[in-house]
Amino acid sequence: MTKTRFAPSPTGLIHLGNVRTALFNALLAYRHQGIFLLRIEDTDQERSEDQYVQQLMEDLRWLGADWQEGPEHDKGHAPYYQSQRSDIYADYYAQLEAQKCVYPCFCSPQELAVSRKLQRVAGQAPRYAGTCAHLSPEEIEQKIAKGLQPTLRFRVPRGESIEFEDVVRDTQRFSTDDIGDFIIRRADGTPAFFFCNAVDDALMEVSHVLRGEDHLTNTPRQLMILQALGLPQPTYGHISLIVGADNSPLSKRHGSRSLKELRAEGWLPEGIVNYLARLGHAYGHDDFISFAQLAEQFDTQRLGKAPAKFDEQQLKHWQQQAVLQADEERIWQWMNEDTRARVPPESKEAFVKTVHPNLLFPSDAQVWASILCTDDWDYAEDAREELRNAGATFFEHAIAALEEAQVDWKVMGKVLKTASGKKGKGLFMPLRAALTGMTHGPEMSQVLPFLGVDKAKARLQKAQLIAASERLT
Ligand code: GLU
Repeated sequence: MTKTRFAPSPTGLIHLGNVRTALFNALLAYRHQGIFLLRIEDTDQERSEDQYVQQLMEDLRWLGADWQEGPEHDKGHAPYYQSQRSDIYADYYAQLEAQKCVYPCFCSPQELAVSRKLQRVAGQAPRYAGTCAHLSPEEIEQKIAKGLQPTLRFRVPRGESIEFEDVVRDTQRFSTDDIGDFIIRRADGTPAFFFCNAVDDALMEVSHVLRGEDHLTNTPRQLMILQALGLPQPTYGHISLIVGADNSPLSKRHGSRSLKELRAEGWLPEGIVNYLARLGHAYGHDDFISFAQLAEQFDTQRLGKAPAKFDEQQLKHWQQQAVLQADEERIWQWMNEDTRARVPPESKEAFVKTVHPNLLFPSDAQVWASILCTDDWDYAEDAREELRNAGATFFEHAIAALEEAQVDWKVMGKVLKTASGKKGKGLFMPLRAALTGMTHGPEMSQVLPFLGVDKAKARLQKAQLIAASERLT
């Protein structure tokens, strides 16, 4: 059975980068009717906060990436918070100690820093020098008696090669001679990432790990731990990182915001999911599809090795698709309170129907609510220009055409065309400018009935005055 997982450290809000990792894992599990597991890697007690756990669970649900196993969904491998698994880890530390695969290390952070510096100066890649690798039991006892608290290091065998098949990057080969003995338990007794991440994947029966390529060099270390413990090894796939247009890792500078912020701005989950699923994974088409379809067509063979470039315009494209697909009630709820307060209850449906194709964010609806439902707006500069160019007489004819056609836009256009001798843009643009203060926006055939004859007439009269007065100056 395919079991994937998302294993975030709850030390902050999740961003598009980790959302994509979660998404790929969810898609792979759903694709094979497997299980998508959520595990909270909260071993850094200082920085982990429950509010971030709550937020990331809300974020995953909002996206539609629900987990079938994890917090609130125990499938027999609880607890799913690493901070609550110390007893389980203790057994595995004991096993490694009994096998002499590990040793206590008393080197202080300062000593380690000096050692690294010396290695760098000598042109070597810094790795643990092995200072504590061969302490006698007496030496260890003495140090402990002095009150020193050791870390626990994994003894890396020398002269071996670690190989694995990466589902994205094919065969990966590492020489153990390039890997220094590494810490698997911190001096304060808390488990280090290499250890608990690997042990939990095995104990929770995770079959596939898709994670960022920044973890690639961690994998041989984790494989060694699993091998020493006789635990099963998952299949790993290291996905390319998301980069900005300048090829540097995605950051705030590139417009990367937390999912919470994106949601507050009105981005819809379907758009985000359609975008992220394609960022580093080729679908071979640009159809806007559901989460279930994205999963059905997900294929690890289609994951790319090249860095995935973040493009806000693309994200907006998928947002547009998501907004267009959303039904009108949902769009109404998505609009902000200010907008809903401005639209009279009896006009709600007509309002949504009129503006829906022109919306990208709730803030757009707010602009249209003030234009269509209030007189509390000003002309855009290019709209004012349209009024000036059309001239006062044009609007005199427009008022007459409105009186004749009422709110039938087509008829009004015809009547006005005959009366003014104008056509095309020269005919419609000044009318749009007069009735909405803008040179772009919703279909006028819907705007006009929405405004009604009286309001439309008042606006045409105002436009006529502006055209007349600005002609004089
Ligand atoms: N807690 C780790 C992280 O957030 C998990 C890495 C992994 O997916 O293995 O980076």
